[in-house]
Amino acid sequence: MSAMRRYLPVFHDVLGASVLVVGAGAVGSRKIEALLAGGARVTVVAKEFSPAVEERAANGNLTVLRGTFHTDQMREAEFVFVATPDRALNHRVSAEARRRRIPVNVADSPEECTFLLPAVVRGGEFTAAISTGGRHPGAAKALREFLEDHREEVSVRLERGRRRKRIAPRRGKIYIVGAGPGDPDLLTVRALGLLRGADVVIHDYLVPAEILSLAPATAARICFARRGRTAGHGAVLKQNAIHEAMVRLAREGKSVVRLKSGDPLMFGRGGEEAEYLAGEGIPFEIVPGITAAMGCAAAAVLPLTHRERSSSVTFVAGHETDEKGKSAVDWSLLPKNGTLAIYMGVGRVAAIAGELAGAGFPSETPFTIVENGNRPEQRILRGTLFDLPRISVESGVRSPAILFVGRTAALLAYENTEETSDEPVAQGV
Ligand code: SAH
Repeated sequence: MSAMRRYLPVFHDVLGASVLVVGAGAVGSRKIEALLAGGARVTVVAKEFSPAVEERAANGNLTVLRGTFHTDQMREAEFVFVATPDRALNHRVSAEARRRRIPVNVADSPEECTFLLPAVVRGGEFTAAISTGGRHPGAAKALREFLEDHREEVSVRLERGRRRKRIAPRRGKIYIVGAGPGDPDLLTVRALGLLRGADVVIHDYLVPAEILSLAPATAARICFARRGRTAGHGAVLKQNAIHEAMVRLAREGKSVVRLKSGDPLMFGRGGEEAEYLAGEGIPFEIVPGITAAMGCAAAAVLPLTHRERSSSVTFVAGHETDEKGKSAVDWSLLPKNGTLAIYMGVGRVAAIAGELAGAGFPSETPFTIVENGNRPEQRILRGTLFDLPRISVESGVRSPAILFVGRTAALLAYENTEETSDEPVAQGV
C-alpha cells in the first residue's frame, strides 16, 4: 500500500472535474485513486479492471464502461488519461483528445501528451514536483527518492529560511574543536565537517580512535598527552610544543583541527591556546563540544539542576595544585545546595571526600561517579559521601571519570533501567 502511495500523482484542482481514464491496469488504477482523492468525477473505459477499480465501481465511486474505447465517450471529458498496453489504441485516444482540445496524458509516452505528471514528494511543510519533461523518468524517480530520504533536512532548511553552509575548513587556520565525551554520535555537525576536511589533527589522549578515524586517512595525527603520558598514541607533545606546532602548521597553510575531549574551554586549555594563536596572528575558531559533565549527567539521568534539589551547578577541578597534597579548590566556598561536577578527581577520591566533609558537606550527601561516560565501557557508581572512599576503592574507579556530588546525584525514580540490565554495572550500595 505504501509503495503504491509513493507513486500517486498529485492533482491540485480536479474537484468536480469530469475525467476519462482509458485502461484500468496498475498505472490506470493509481491515476484513478489519485483523481478520486482529488474529488474528480471519473469514468473508466477498459476491457478488464483491476480488483481495486472493481471495488470502487461496486461502491459507486466511479462510472465503468466495459469494452472498447469509443470517441463518443470523450464528449463530457475535461481531461483524458490513457494507460493501456495497446500502443495503437493509446495513439488513437491521444489524437482524438487533441482534435477536441482536451488535455491528454499517455503513460510512458511523453510525445503523445499535452500535459505531463511530475513525480511528487510530500514533506511535512512542502510538496515538491519533479519533472524531466517525460524524458528521464529514471532520473525523476532517483531525485524523488533522494528528496524522500532528505525530507527532514529540507523541512529544517525551510524553517531556517536558509541553506546550511558546507563546512569547508580554511587553510592556514586552527580549529580548536570539542570532540565531546567519547561517543562519535555526540560530535557536533561542525566538528564532524571540520574533522573530515582536516590536514592535521592534534588531539588529546582522551579522544577515542573511533572519532580520530573520521579524519581523512591522509591527515597527520599528533597526540598530545599531559604530564608526558603517551597513552599509546605515538608522538607526545607538551603544551608549549603544541603551541609552536600549531603556529608552524598554520603558517605552512595546513588546516589544523586541535581536537580536545569534551569542550575545549572546559579544563581543556583552549583559552591558553587561543591566546597564544592570537598573539602570533594566527586565525583560529573555537567549536564547542559536549563537556564530560553534560554527557555523563545524561548517561546517569542526573539532572544538573532540579527545581527542588539544586539551583546551581559548579564545574570543579578535583586534582591537586603543584604544591604537593594541597587541593586546587577551596571546597568551603562551594554551594552545598547545588550540584558539584568534579573533573579529574578520581585519583584522589578519598582526599576529596575528606575535604568535602571538612567543608561541611553532610556525610549523607549523595554522589554518582560516571567512569568512561558515553563510551562502551561506561560504569556508574552511586552512594553517599560517607561510603565514597570505600566504594571507589572496591570498584577500582579509574580516570576518566566525573564525580557528581549533591542531592541531584541520588538515584532517581525515572532512572533509565537499561543501564542496570545485563551489564555488570556497579551501583554503589
Ligand atoms: N575538556 C574536557 C575535560 C578535560 S579534563 C571536557 O570538557 O569534558 C579531563 C577530565 O574530564 C577527566 O579527568 C574526567 O574527569 C573528565 N572526562 C573526560 N571524558 C570523560 C568521560 N568520557 N567520562 C567521564 N569523565 C570524563
